[in-house]
Amino acid sequence: MAEFEAGFAALCGVEHAVAVNNGSTALTAALLGQGVGPGDEVLTSPFTFIATVNAVLATGARVRFADITAEDFALDPAAVAKAVTDSTTVLMPVHLFGQTADMDPLMSIVADHDLKLVEDAAQAHGARYRNRSAGAFGVGCFSFYATKNLTTGEGGMITTGDAEIADRLRVLRNQGMRARYQYEMVGHNYRMTDLAAAVGLPQLAGYAAQVDRRRRNAARLTERLEGVPGLTLPRVGEGREHVWHQYTVLVGDDAAVNRDELSLQLTERGVGNGIYYPYLVGDYDCYRRHPGVENAETPVARRVSSQCLSLPVHAALSEDDVEAVADAVVDVLS
Ligand SMILES: *Cc1c(COP(=O)(O)O)cnc(C)c1O
Repeated sequence: MAEFEAGFAALCGVEHAVAVNNGSTALTAALLGQGVGPGDEVLTSPFTFIATVNAVLATGARVRFADITAEDFALDPAAVAKAVTDSTTVLMPVHLFGQTADMDPLMSIVADHDLKLVEDAAQAHGARYRNRSAGAFGVGCFSFYATKNLTTGEGGMITTGDAEIADRLRVLRNQGMRARYQYEMVGHNYRMTDLAAAVGLPQLAGYAAQVDRRRRNAARLTERLEGVPGLTLPRVGEGREHVWHQYTVLVGDDAAVNRDELSLQLTERGVGNGIYYPYLVGDYDCYRRHPGVENAETPVARRVSSQCLSLPVHAALSEDDVEAVADAVVDVLS
């Protein structure tokens, strides 16, 4: 496991990587390990997998939402600047679909308001922003769930440049034990198994090649789909390196069919596709009514959730597969 941690730290260009049993506990541990809990407020995106929010609520902290941009599907720095309150203590950007949020302006807000920065990088292994990796800005949280770019079945990793935080996380993940029966803090069992680490380790060597194939697939899809009426294609932000966990388009009102219809017709033609994510967190009763969730109007996220559709981009696609995906989309939308 130590070897997997060292390899992953190298991938992210960080000093420390602490392996845990999944991406959700990575997030919870990253917060608990920095003393976040009741009384804290975490500002994050409403357009994410629910684990982001569940992990915060598990610590007893509150959640507040800021809107995203439709260009990168991540927190909009202007919206974050407006949404931040005196009680906000943590900023938690979600680097969605394999691309980082716009980190420079977000880092300024973090500095101005003296916030902790926890990155939900569960989908962004190796993504970069101005030559700095996802997970190297604050405390980074990664998932190795079966669907992610790197996988151990279930697994997670926390990255940090802070030796003290790394040390606390290592104790926290093992029931708060420094050595056997030497309890230093209230901990949990967040341990990754050596079995999982052994599955993950060999993937690191081939990861760059895998990302290259994802990039090639994404570039070809963009080449083929450019100019299809009503379709907005995913963009790589300036200075950013995308690892294409998902290739997500927006199906606008002016498209020949709407998003749901396109999804249905692609499925009928045997072309895999997915809607990530069909609703915002606050749309679900259990979160809308939750005392720890402060809902907000996020019109961009709302529109994106009704228009987004992810197309196959993974590394195992053949060139013919990619052409077939593009053919089907062009066919349905013309
Ligand atoms: C997958 C994912 C998680 C949670 O990771 P698990 O390993 O499934 O617990 C958290 N946030 C985002 C954005 C994810 O995609």
